[in-house]
Amino acid sequence: MPKIAHQFEMDQQFEYAQDDKSDASPSNTWKILTVEDDPDYQASLVASLAGLSPIMGHNLQILTASSSIAAATLISQHPDIGLILLDVVMEEDDAGLRLVNTIREVLGNASVRVVLLTGQPGFAPEKEVMRTLDIDGYWNKAELTRDKLHSVEHSNFRTWLYLNQLIQARQGLQLVLDAARSINSKHDLVSFTRAVLLEISQILGVAKGGIMCVGNAVNSSFDDHYVISSTGSFEHLQGLKISDPQFSTIYTDVHTALVKQQHLLTTFHSIFYFETQNIDHKCYLMVVKSDIPVSDAHKNLLQVFSENISSGFTNIALLNRLTELAYTDINLNIPNRNWLYREINTMSVKERNHTRLLMLEVNQFDEAAFAFGADFCQKLLQHVHKQICNLLPQSQRIALTSSHRFSILMKADEQISEEILNALNHQKIVVSDVEHNVDLSLLQMDLACTQGYTAAKIVNLAESSLKEAKSKFIKNIKHTQQESDSISRRYDLMRELRTAIGNRTLNVMLQPKVSLTNHEVVGFEALARWKKDDGNYVGPDEFINIAEKSGLIQKLDCLIFEKTVEAIKTLAQHGYHLPVAFNASSLDLVRPDYYNFIVDVIEKNAIPAHLLELEVTETQAMSDYSIIQTQLNKFINFGLKISIDDFGTGYSSLAHISRLNADYIKIDRSFVSRLGSDDPSAHIVEMIMLMCKKLGFKVIAEGIETEQQQQILQDLQCDMGQGYLFAKPMYVDDVLAWLKKHQ
Ligand code: C2E
Ligand code: CA
Ligand code: CA
Repeated sequence: MPKIAHQFEMDQQFEYAQDDKSDASPSNTWKILTVEDDPDYQASLVASLAGLSPIMGHNLQILTASSSIAAATLISQHPDIGLILLDVVMEEDDAGLRLVNTIREVLGNASVRVVLLTGQPGFAPEKEVMRTLDIDGYWNKAELTRDKLHSVEHSNFRTWLYLNQLIQARQGLQLVLDAARSINSKHDLVSFTRAVLLEISQILGVAKGGIMCVGNAVNSSFDDHYVISSTGSFEHLQGLKISDPQFSTIYTDVHTALVKQQHLLTTFHSIFYFETQNIDHKCYLMVVKSDIPVSDAHKNLLQVFSENISSGFTNIALLNRLTELAYTDINLNIPNRNWLYREINTMSVKERNHTRLLMLEVNQFDEAAFAFGADFCQKLLQHVHKQICNLLPQSQRIALTSSHRFSILMKADEQISEEILNALNHQKIVVSDVEHNVDLSLLQMDLACTQGYTAAKIVNLAESSLKEAKSKFIKNIKHTQQESDSISRRYDLMRELRTAIGNRTLNVMLQPKVSLTNHEVVGFEALARWKKDDGNYVGPDEFINIAEKSGLIQKLDCLIFEKTVEAIKTLAQHGYHLPVAFNASSLDLVRPDYYNFIVDVIEKNAIPAHLLELEVTETQAMSDYSIIQTQLNKFINFGLKISIDDFGTGYSSLAHISRLNADYIKIDRSFVSRLGSDDPSAHIVEMIMLMCKKLGFKVIAEGIETEQQQQILQDLQCDMGQGYLFAKPMYVDDVLAWLKKHQ
């Protein structure tokens, strides 16, 4: 008879624990509880139970309680009790039934089996009560023989076992669902497999074992499969190839799973096979080594789980494929702009210092596309790509970074010889038996001079630099620190200018125009002024150019126009009703709403239209002659005077000039400043004067700085002058003071 250990606990309860010297590990023992207030019957029951043979290979641990309260306490401490033999009548007539209610409802224990015992012959609880409390049966104490006890015990423990498995499976499924959910958010293979491994450990309750994921391309040699991630006792194997001697014990099984492309479940390790063949030709083996035997329930769960995560592998493969696409130009199947960004952004400072960016642009590409079609362009790009690879062996890191621009990352200390540059620039391509010349522009930029810039900024910088050089017909550009600085200053200025325009902090100065016959002030020119927050002025030549190139010019000119109108009103308030000229860019004039805007401001401020003159440069007026002339006519009809600015610097033909509908011609400062020297520009001024007189334009000479220049212009019968000789541009207050003095 097994020894029974008596143990005094609070509330008079005894625990009879089987002190078996055999290998009765906790999982090998099932617990039974007898609840009985009659000590004699309790003792005989315990004796009978202790004499029973093991059930399904499990020894019994017998627990006893003599009251329903003691029983409830015990049950809450031992949720793994399988069977309760329960006396119905104890402290009260229905104490037993109340206890069952507590077990089911309060303790939430649905799996424990309950068999009622009664001393009163003929007692039978109601069927409904039996059902709701999930009671398995009732016995008259007198009738419960040892044999019957054995069969009661047997059948109930079996039920309890199945119930438990069911409940565990349900909890397991919940775990699987939760796990799949938490894993779904992982997008790279290592963290994904790691998350999977952790979840499997949880499901199995693996404490001492380990889990790892082995994988590689399907067609790679088995020995090249390696551990992508691992946990537990496999932790140290991460990164190792399966051929490593440390894998000798599982090598064969893993190999079998791979060859059969199937899961392989053995008692002490389970191997799961996954593949993403159709996407990236890869397969993965999840090896689970457990310190506890993997039960059938676990195996089922792992199967369910593996089905769930199998789609996770597919998702990651798809994502990788997408990422690959995001970094590849599909037409040429070489890296693209995103790739270049990524490469540059992930470089260390040292790497940047040793890297040069080479940018090659195919000139007249758009024209070629238009004339010869997309097919030709595709062939052209393929050809250029091949040529670059042949001529520049250093160019493995080459990308197509826009429709017609290649970018190459190379070592900064590698030089490109003149011959190679020449060869690059004199390529011929034969398409459909017709020979075409391939015209390229090339820029070299050491990334050392772009430290601190983002990749996008660097690529923009290179592209602007290339564009700028092309406009000057330069084909091979070496981008230097100086250019970097000046372009980046332009970037900064552009940002600041945008803010300044938004905050309306730009201002106007007025520069007087004077009659060269009687020296009277005949009007002003409004000139934009920008004083930055740091107190420094930026010259209009610089910021107007930036504004024109960055699309800010319209906003800027509209703002300056409003300020010009304010100035006119101030002058008028002081009794000066003099016309003021404002500068308009051709970019303003081609926009239909510009005219409406100007008219609107004039009308709102009730300014007579003749107090305003519009200046547009000769080059700009001629750039889009028919559109601009139409627009200018609208202004003229509204009552504005038109000046053609910087005259003589453009290339307008006489035919065009004679058709120009303007009032004034402003001779450019460059001619005026050379008057009086031996320079032939004196003759040019003479010619312009003659022509203007013939065509009926009035003439204003810009930039008069000396008496001598003034004299010559007077001799040539120039009508008006503007220049430092009379006055520099001034803010309105200074203009008022100047006007007082001048008169
Ligand atoms: P511009 O229209 O030809 O203006 C005349 C320029 O010559 C002004 O330069 C003026 O300050 C300068 N100037 C006048 N007299 C003399 C002189 O005797 N000697 C010298 N050395 N220079 C003289 P600023 O103000 O630097 O303007 C440069 C250019 O910027 C202007 O040339 C004009 O094309 C443009 N600009 C100025 N304000 C605006 C504007 O509001 N809108 C637009 N679109 N362009 C503007
Ligand atoms: Ca002007
Ligand atoms: Ca001018």
